[in-house]
Amino acid sequence: MPAESLREKTVSPWQIHPVRIVAAKAEVPGVITYRLKFVDQNVEDAYSVSPGQFNMLYMPGYGESAISVSGYDEQNRELLQTVRVAGNVTRALSRLNVGDELGLRGPFGQGWPMKAAQGGHLVLIAGGLGFAPIRSAIEAAICHRGRYEKISILAGARSPDQLLYREQYEQWKAAQVELRLTVDRATPQWNGNVGVVPLLVDRLKISNPATATVMVCGPEVMMWYTVKSAIEQNISVERIWLSMERNMNCAIGHCGHCQFGPAFICKDGPVLRYDRIASYLKIKGL
Ligand SMILES: Cc1cc2nc3c(=O)[nH]c(=O)nc-3n(C[C@H](O)[C@H](O)[C@H](O)COP(=O)(O)OP(=O)(O)OC[C@H]3O[C@@H](n4cnc5c(N)ncnc54)[C@H](O)[C@@H]3O)c2cc1C
Repeated sequence: MPAESLREKTVSPWQIHPVRIVAAKAEVPGVITYRLKFVDQNVEDAYSVSPGQFNMLYMPGYGESAISVSGYDEQNRELLQTVRVAGNVTRALSRLNVGDELGLRGPFGQGWPMKAAQGGHLVLIAGGLGFAPIRSAIEAAICHRGRYEKISILAGARSPDQLLYREQYEQWKAAQVELRLTVDRATPQWNGNVGVVPLLVDRLKISNPATATVMVCGPEVMMWYTVKSAIEQNISVERIWLSMERNMNCAIGHCGHCQFGPAFICKDGPVLRYDRIASYLKIKGL
């Protein structure tokens, strides 16, 4: 098949492709990071994903769920997807074992502006499961470490045992990435920060706010206060990006389930510039 028609066929947004679970790592109770590999090598060849995009994972008989890509292992060509058991689809997925197959279509949406952030301080901020799409930005930034003046990761969770990706922290720090963590409730073993994520932003040293870029994903209330703190640090609203979540269905802007003001989270997002959505964030229940 000519390369172009192969690409058209394999990247059709409606086409569901089988992927095999290569590994499944329990991160924290109820949250698993899967390593997924396309069964069809042609699809694997045609697939290309950017940090911050998402896939629709399909469990036959149950349905589909939008799940952010939390990483891509270039060497083994394996996708990382971190999933919290929330309802029918994710519960069915959690019952699968290594070697089992499920369906996947994607990738979808607009990811993080990694290129636009080059040359300045990159501030990556995660709350709870919001760490999943932020992790893909961390990977991409570390891969091109020299292109960013400074990289800071600020992450929070309810308690120390709820922090995701703990086994990666030393590796990130070794790549000269600043890592600051906070928890809502400390345990006797915890000697880090206690408090909400925006407090980490307040304490962050940003030498040149004009070239700093902030990328945030977490619960909406956390993102709201985090943005407030970033603005107080003199970061321009045009350099603040949020990854948004809404119930979605088609993932390509047809069904309207994920409409957020004039934007569809699935195709215009999930990553959106703060100033473009600020007025809609204020509307309760939108
Ligand atoms: C762009 C995007 C990226 C996402 N990335 C991830 C990810 O990396 N990991 C992950 O675990 N989940 C992620 N989600 C959330 C995930 O898609 C939902 O939890 C999904 O509905 C679970 O499917 P389910 O059938 O198991 O649960 P459902 O039966 O669909 O839902 C269970 C409960 O969650 C509510 N719900 C469903 N979708 C959402 C949503 N988007 N926001 C808030 N509440 C919702 C439902 O109303 C219901 O109460 C993402 C969602 C979006 C839109």
